[in-house]
Amino acid sequence: MHDLVAAGFATHPKVGRMLAGAVRSGKVAHAYLFIGPTGVGKREAALAFGRLAGCHEPTERDGVLAPCGICPSCERPYASDRHHDLMVIDPQQKESRISMEGSASGKEVPLIDRLRAAQEYVSIRPIASRTKCLAVLALDLLQDVHMNAILKTVEEPPAHALVLLTASNASGVLPTILSRCQRMDLPPAPVEAIVTALGRSDGAARRAALLSGGRLTVARRLLDAPELPEIEEGFRTLRHMALSDDPLQALRAAELCRSLCLQWYEVLNRDEGEEGGTEEERVRRSIEAVLFPLEAAIRDAYSHSLGAPEASLLDLGDRIATPSPGRAAAALGRIGEAKRAIKGNANTRLALEALFLAL
Ligand SMILES: [Zn+2]
Repeated sequence: MHDLVAAGFATHPKVGRMLAGAVRSGKVAHAYLFIGPTGVGKREAALAFGRLAGCHEPTERDGVLAPCGICPSCERPYASDRHHDLMVIDPQQKESRISMEGSASGKEVPLIDRLRAAQEYVSIRPIASRTKCLAVLALDLLQDVHMNAILKTVEEPPAHALVLLTASNASGVLPTILSRCQRMDLPPAPVEAIVTALGRSDGAARRAALLSGGRLTVARRLLDAPELPEIEEGFRTLRHMALSDDPLQALRAAELCRSLCLQWYEVLNRDEGEEGGTEEERVRRSIEAVLFPLEAAIRDAYSHSLGAPEASLLDLGDRIATPSPGRAAAALGRIGEAKRAIKGNANTRLALEALFLAL
């Protein structure tokens, strides 16, 4: 019984076991907050749990507690606008209507009005589900006025209400909200778990899992992206240019690195309807992921030079010239410094040029 995992939590079995336990024992809390890095799959996790908690007759099979698929709640697709008892508010998406009966359509509704309407929404009894579910995503990006509106909803929820919140960063959430929610941490998952959740075990799935940094949604987007082979080719080129002794190559590497960041951002965010942000912001948000294959190659070459078996961290079918142990350690240190500088608002072009010249 204790091994039972909620459906949709293959990458986070510990959280999945807690949630399955809550559903099975009838002790589902009124509010949950899912916290984890961008792209780890918080939205999917929240909705998977919402669907399970709303099901009238969850079923157990092979250690998984899953929605039955046939009750009045399961009958409908569990998506905002398509299910009577689910409302999803994604502040990053401009929505033109509120998914409520009788709501206005065709014009944009301000977020604060959507959140107030949501408060009323959860007070209405569910029609098909066991719960009336409100999911509010990216809580840490909201202003205090918006968070206060949510606070009102989680403060005195009616018995049938289930509020599911997500945030990348707990420090961006009002403490008064934090204290009223069950906190569920979704850290990056092991590569093997991502590969399993992708449902494919070929080389592309494996590379997508590795490049995703343990984030399932990122891995899915990469695997779906027609640009994946091109991006991988870019990573290979960057690996080779990075350790060249030619300063001209170093400047080219810096430029390539920036353009890979922009491409990476585009692949991961193209469906978000997000404003996009400046070029600098897009580079800043992608730099960790784009420098990872280079770091992996240097680590691999380094451990290989110490007698470890063939490259394993991230095999893109290439091999870089083995740097001396001293140079490898120095290079990893420089990359770490550059990442910190870029995240701390340094000019990305200058920081990357300095990095690749130093390598
Ligand atoms: Zn059901």
